[in-house]
Amino acid sequence: MGVSPVNMTEAEHELRGRCAGVVPLHARMEDWMVDVSQNGNLFNWISEFGSPLNVLCDQPFRRNIAELHSAADDRQLDFDVYFARKANKCLQFVDTASEIGCGVDVASEQELIQVLDRDLPASKIVCTAAIKSESLIQLCVDRGVLIVVDNQDEMLIVRQTATAQDRLVDVALRVSGFDHDDEKLYSRFGFDMTETPAVLQQFADDEDLRRRVCLAGLHFHLDGYCPRQRVSALKQTLQLVDQCRELGHAPTFVDMGGGVPMSYLNSQSQWREFWSQHRLAVLGNREPITYRNHELGLTVVNGHVHGRPKSYPYHQSPVRSEWFANILDAEFEQNTLAGSIRRRGIQLRCEPGRSVLDGCGMTVARVEFRKQHISGEWLIGLSMNRTQCRTSSDDFLVDPIVLANPESATRVASCNQPMAGYLVGAYCTESEMLSLRKLQFPYGVEVGDVVVFPNTAGYLMHFLESRSHQFPLGKNVFVHHETGYRNAGLDLIDTQTYR
Ligand SMILES: *Cc1c(COP(=O)(O)O)cnc(C)c1O
Repeated sequence: MGVSPVNMTEAEHELRGRCAGVVPLHARMEDWMVDVSQNGNLFNWISEFGSPLNVLCDQPFRRNIAELHSAADDRQLDFDVYFARKANKCLQFVDTASEIGCGVDVASEQELIQVLDRDLPASKIVCTAAIKSESLIQLCVDRGVLIVVDNQDEMLIVRQTATAQDRLVDVALRVSGFDHDDEKLYSRFGFDMTETPAVLQQFADDEDLRRRVCLAGLHFHLDGYCPRQRVSALKQTLQLVDQCRELGHAPTFVDMGGGVPMSYLNSQSQWREFWSQHRLAVLGNREPITYRNHELGLTVVNGHVHGRPKSYPYHQSPVRSEWFANILDAEFEQNTLAGSIRRRGIQLRCEPGRSVLDGCGMTVARVEFRKQHISGEWLIGLSMNRTQCRTSSDDFLVDPIVLANPESATRVASCNQPMAGYLVGAYCTESEMLSLRKLQFPYGVEVGDVVVFPNTAGYLMHFLESRSHQFPLGKNVFVHHETGYRNAGLDLIDTQTYR
């Protein structure tokens, strides 16, 4: 299992031949994705399981987590990963996490129940749910699952639950509002750093609280991917560890949350070229490269482009372990951050979602119609809706792959004429585009062909999926290296019934 970060293999090249953006953005492909796309099985699996279908593989998940561990091991850090399950609902990732000794971060009561059902030990679970109902808190306390406390109301319910169950409950304090480059990092979550002394004092003053609630660690999760912001946050959190200890608490870990970056594209120059061409397009200086010249977050005022791309940075560098290593090697206390963490005897934790799912899945859908709009552009209709490959970003800025169905009924009639246009989905709105980018199909597209959206396991396939119009949710199947990626088995999330 390898990724070829620069050189495209012959097989990849062939796969990309049937579809590319007007300004191309070539997806980074894992070997398993190339293999599954070429072995013809996707057509059978779509017949069997329906369209769209999420096809997944856990091998890259193992590799990605191992990569983070090796950066920590190189620096002799006590380190643990808690996979943020909200980024993908499949239970295979929970089972794999369990097998490799990785933890899971749960964001709801249902996620927690399902993870407990998979026999993940409580010590390997952390609950960071944004809203914690009393029943979620009761379940955490009952099972001994660490709760990341966000506010005073939660703290009170944790305390009351602990008292009712006659327990001492471990919590981590979620903190925010770090100073960075002479500004405060805004967050709606957690206790502001200026409020933490009062929280610690509250514990000092209240013996009954100390008997019920144990401050086991400190937690933060920052928006975005900036490594320097993580460095600022870690430094300030380590100083807070010292204050906790001075006041008699014994925190054992700092959890730096998620936001570990990844790249969907091999080529930085393609990414740059896309945005420079798009700027020209929104200014009216070239033909649009998006549907009806959709701005993707930019705006034009008096002939100048303003605003920021409303999209994930599909190419960025460094990513994952290199990004992590840079943070750990930042200078602090005449040492490195890693050294300061070690010296305090603190365990470092993180909660990556998207980046550990890099390379783990793709979304596959069937072409149902082609129609040439009066404008001359083609609309390609897929059995899929836009919530099935979408995050809060404006678009998924990665070229899809088209696989020709040799048995297509329309193929013979239309003689592989080139087409250009847009992928449209099943919701009954004018805005229902599966991709806002204008795509070119040099050999045309036929009914019964299959469109593959590569690398969608992190958020894209599940985060916003909806049952609007009563469409069933897409099914999720896993392929495995051991069987040459020839067999696809449904994930338990599709076969178990959950409350
Ligand atoms: C969403 C979330 C994560 C995961 O973030 P990624 O960007 O997917 O790595 C981790 N921790 C918390 C608290 C979160 O809300």
